[in-house]
Amino acid sequence: MPRTYPGNQACKSVGAPAKIPGRRGGNDMARVVLLQPPYLRALGSHNDRYPLELAYYAAHLRNEGHEALLVNADFTGSAAYIEWQRLFRNYRYLVDAMRFGSPLVDETVERVVGLDPDVVVVSAGDSLVPWVDSGNAYWSAMFSGALRKAGLFTVGVGPFFDQVPERFREDFDAILLGLPSAKISEVVRSRAAGCTSTGGFDVTVAPLRNLVDSHQAPDTLITSAGCPHSCTFCLGRDTGLSLLPRAVIERDLSETRSTLVEIGDAIAPSLQRLSDLQPMFSSSGRHFSCEITVRQASPRRLDALRQAGVRVAKMGIESGDDEFLRAAGKKQSRSTILEAVRRLKDRGFHVVAYVLLGGPSSTPAVVAHTYDLCVELGADEYVVNVWSHHDLANRDFRYDAHFSSTLAEEWGVSEYLPRFFNLQGSQKMGLGRIIRYG
Ligand code: SF4
Repeated sequence: MPRTYPGNQACKSVGAPAKIPGRRGGNDMARVVLLQPPYLRALGSHNDRYPLELAYYAAHLRNEGHEALLVNADFTGSAAYIEWQRLFRNYRYLVDAMRFGSPLVDETVERVVGLDPDVVVVSAGDSLVPWVDSGNAYWSAMFSGALRKAGLFTVGVGPFFDQVPERFREDFDAILLGLPSAKISEVVRSRAAGCTSTGGFDVTVAPLRNLVDSHQAPDTLITSAGCPHSCTFCLGRDTGLSLLPRAVIERDLSETRSTLVEIGDAIAPSLQRLSDLQPMFSSSGRHFSCEITVRQASPRRLDALRQAGVRVAKMGIESGDDEFLRAAGKKQSRSTILEAVRRLKDRGFHVVAYVLLGGPSSTPAVVAHTYDLCVELGADEYVVNVWSHHDLANRDFRYDAHFSSTLAEEWGVSEYLPRFFNLQGSQKMGLGRIIRYG
């Protein structure tokens, strides 16, 4: 029987300092490790994408005088990745690791404790790119538990906590809710337990550009944080839209070699701001990939993105069934998807289409409509996801993943997956391409 949980509740802060601050030279400064736990490594792959949310927190903490060390424990440095469909086959290893434990936990705790921190900020996914399946709150809670046993103060961050903060209240000493915020300084300084709502994105320093023990460099540049849209299947829905100041974007563009650009402005209502930003991207002489929604794929907007240097467009087409799209809160239809992709292809964009199978209103007919649409679209690549992380308030979602073979079974879409994988072509859609394109 699935376990049930109380609904989404505000996390009650108990506000009691759990540890006396000031062991670093008698002041309030702390040594902080910001940890992206291994996650895809539990499935036989890895995630070399830069942990952006943690990098902003780390930079802010350093700016405030703390020591901040950024660790991506999912990093291996390999340029090769297993095929996307292999993740579905390996999914059972993640389930086993959740149930019975994993040496990855000990390995990571060893590594973190060896850095001698006072505080460990543990991410579960990334609030700045919440659509990338790079973690899970239950999984991160396992690492937090082991670190607390080692006497460390832990802080949880990531998109899951906004939705069900109370669920994880006992798993971390503190939890930060919302987008990266300067409020982390106060939590680290005071070690006050409980939840802190951060509000909008307000970190003004550039994300930290170096990690411990790896040569990773920031690969994603953002022009905004959050998303104003309300797709029911997405952890990033209804998170508002915080536009970064133009000078900040200019600084980040010149200081990093990032080519993944979350030009949030590409999906924001204002075409004017996108036009304002376009020259600085054009003059960089670089090529980028970015998200674009069907609804915002107007000729003028696509022309502006093209001139900005965007060559790869990532688009959540999700489904070929209008009723399914409506129920999912996706403001697009089969015909508008076809038109948007045609416009992209006419302008020479490389189109990466995100497909969503399963979900509360999925039926065999919905899947068939989606497959037919994919064939008709002729996109360059298809990312095949299973609807996951739904109804978080009432379900145990610890085993949810976009590549969950169990959810595929539950939604009745398993038998159709091979046909969709064939659209990807042999070796075409390894996880690396997702990491590279976002
Ligand atoms: S447009 Fe929809 S799927 Fe994309 S980030 Fe926003 S809420 Fe999520």
